[in-house]
Amino acid sequence: MKETSFDFIICGGGASGLLLLDALRKDSFFDDYRILLLEKEIKNSNDRTWCFWETPQGPFDELLTKKWDHAQFKSSELQLDFQLAPLSYKMLRSSGVYKQLHTNLKHSKNTFFKQAEIKEVTSEGNQTRVFTSHESFIAKRVFNSLFDPKPLKKQKKYPVLQQHFVGWYIKTEDPVFDPEKLLFMDFDIPQKKETRFLYLLPLDTKTALVEYTLFSEHLLPLEEYEMGIQSYLKEKGITEYTLEEKEQGTIPMTCFPFEQFNTQSLLHIGTAGGWTKASTGFTFMNTRRNVARLCAFLKTDQDLNNFKIKNRFRFYDLLFLDVLTRYNSEGSSLFSRMFEKNPPVRIFHFLDEKTSFWEELSILASFSLKQKSWFIKALFQRIF
Ligand SMILES: Cc1cc2nc3c(=O)[nH]c(=O)nc-3n(C[C@H](O)[C@H](O)[C@H](O)COP(=O)(O)OP(=O)(O)OC[C@H]3O[C@@H](n4cnc5c(N)ncnc54)[C@H](O)[C@@H]3O)c2cc1C
Repeated sequence: MKETSFDFIICGGGASGLLLLDALRKDSFFDDYRILLLEKEIKNSNDRTWCFWETPQGPFDELLTKKWDHAQFKSSELQLDFQLAPLSYKMLRSSGVYKQLHTNLKHSKNTFFKQAEIKEVTSEGNQTRVFTSHESFIAKRVFNSLFDPKPLKKQKKYPVLQQHFVGWYIKTEDPVFDPEKLLFMDFDIPQKKETRFLYLLPLDTKTALVEYTLFSEHLLPLEEYEMGIQSYLKEKGITEYTLEEKEQGTIPMTCFPFEQFNTQSLLHIGTAGGWTKASTGFTFMNTRRNVARLCAFLKTDQDLNNFKIKNRFRFYDLLFLDVLTRYNSEGSSLFSRMFEKNPPVRIFHFLDEKTSFWEELSILASFSLKQKSWFIKALFQRIF
C-alpha cells in the first residue's frame, strides 16, 4: 500500500477540521508545514445551521444569515424578553462557511485535499497513520474529528444526553414573526416527562426556522418532532405556511473524557474531542476558541496529550448533566429558575465559561431548595 507523509493530517473536513486548517494556513509560522485534509464528502450543502453568540463584531459577520440583539425565554412559569447586549446572537448556514473556507484554502501552499473515506487511525510511537481503502498517510501530528459514539455507549460513569431536534424553515402567508427577537427556548409545550422546547429563529416577518428540540437520552420517531412543530404553530394561530426546508440533528451532551483517546501524535478535535459544550450542545464557538488555542499550542511542539480542556466548568456541566439525566422532566423548571434569577447575559457568559466564581455561585443560588438538593446529591456522588 502506498504511504505518503505529511507534517499534519486533519481527518474530517467539517466545522472543526476546516476551521483548524484555515487557522493554520493564516498563521505564517506554519507556512512550510505540509498539511493534508481527508474528507469523505463534497462539503457544500446546508447540512448545519450554526448559531452562537459573541460580541457584535466577529470574523464570520459577512456570511451571517441574520443576527439578533433581543431574545425571549418562555415556560409555564416565566415569560422573559431581554436584550443580549453586549452580545449578539448570530446565525450562519454551513454552505456559505464551507464555500468561504474552501475558497480561502484552495490555492494555499503546502495544502492537500483528498476525498476518501478513512477506515482506521492508529498511533505508534510518535507517529500516527491514517488508512483509507487504498492508501495510508503518516504524520507526527494528526487531528481527528471523526466522532465514534461506541465508547459512550459502553460506559455508565458519564451520563450521555442528546440535544436532538428537527427544524422546519417555513414561510407564512401573513406577517406573523417579529424579526428582531429570537425565541431562545419555549418550554411551554407538553414536556412528556422530558426536557422539550421550541426554538424559533425569525428571519423576517414571514420566514422562520422553527425547531422542536429535546435534551434527553432517546431519539424520537421523525413524526413526533414534526407533530410538535405543527401543533406549536397551530396553537400560535399559524396555519397558512409553506415548508421550505428541513433540518435534523443530534448532538451528544456529555462530559465523557474524549481525551483518553489522544496520543502523543493524535488529537481528537470538534465533537470527537469533547469540544461540544456538554450542558447545551453548542459547539461552533467552542471549536473556534479551541482552534485558536491549539494553533498557539502547536508552536510549542509538545506532546498532544498536553493539550487539555479540563476546567471547573466541565465539572459544573457534569453535575448539571447528572441532575438533568436523573430529573429529565425538570429541565423546564431548572432553566426557568436560571433565567428568572439572573440577568440573561450572565447565563450566556457562564455558558461561555467566562464568569467569576461569585457569579457562578449566584447562578447556583437561583435554584429552589429542592433543586439545590439534587445538585448537592450529585456532587456527593461524584466526590465519594
Ligand atoms: C444539524 C446540526 C445543527 C447544529 N447547530 C449548531 C448550532 O447552531 N450551534 C452550535 O454551536 N453547534 C451546532 N451543532 C453542533 C456542531 O457545531 C456541529 O455538529 C459541528 O459540525 C461539529 O463539528 P465537527 O468538526 O466536530 O464535526 P463535523 O462538522 O460533523 O465534521 C466531521 C467530518 O468528518 C467527515 N467524516 C466522517 N466520517 C468520515 C470518514 N470515515 N472518512 C472521512 N471523513 C469522514 C464528515 O463527513 C464531516 O464532514 C449542530 C449540529 C448539527 C448536526
